[in-house]
Amino acid sequence: MPVKEVILLGNSELRKKSTKVNFSDENLNDHLHDLRDTLNYLQKTKKIGRAIAAPQIGWKRNVIFYNLPKKSFYMINPKILFKSGEIFEVWDSCFCFEVAFFVQIERYKKIEVEYFDREAVKKVETFTDDLSELIQHEIDHLNGILATDHLKDPKKIIMRSEWERRFK
Ligand SMILES: [Zn+2]
Repeated sequence: MPVKEVILLGNSELRKKSTKVNFSDENLNDHLHDLRDTLNYLQKTKKIGRAIAAPQIGWKRNVIFYNLPKKSFYMINPKILFKSGEIFEVWDSCFCFEVAFFVQIERYKKIEVEYFDREAVKKVETFTDDLSELIQHEIDHLNGILATDHLKDPKKIIMRSEWERRFK
């Protein structure tokens, strides 16, 4: 399956809302493979990143693919059911920024998410800390929201090399 081009910050396509996946869509598998292959390629070439949302490659459906150190999985038609009152600050970046810079923003420390897996099985899971902020980032993409939208202090932008020097 082909690796797709990632749409970059500034392109209005990233601002459009995605719609629900229909599991009977005959092209679904092809799209899911494209999303997976694109993330694998990006992780290899950018040496960073844990997930990709379908609208980043121009497929406007509610799908996210995660490739974490211990597991990889699809999250289809996700919905945040609960957000903890507690927030925390994170350094966030995005393949849509070519991971050239990071922004420091606030995210919920804990969320409960309902989603469907690749076999259309409904799941409800609680995520905390680094997974919580990752999933919030990805679900934002489905709603046309980017990490930079959460920036409250314009001074909290840092180039990747500087971020690696200071925080890695
Ligand atoms: Zn992103």
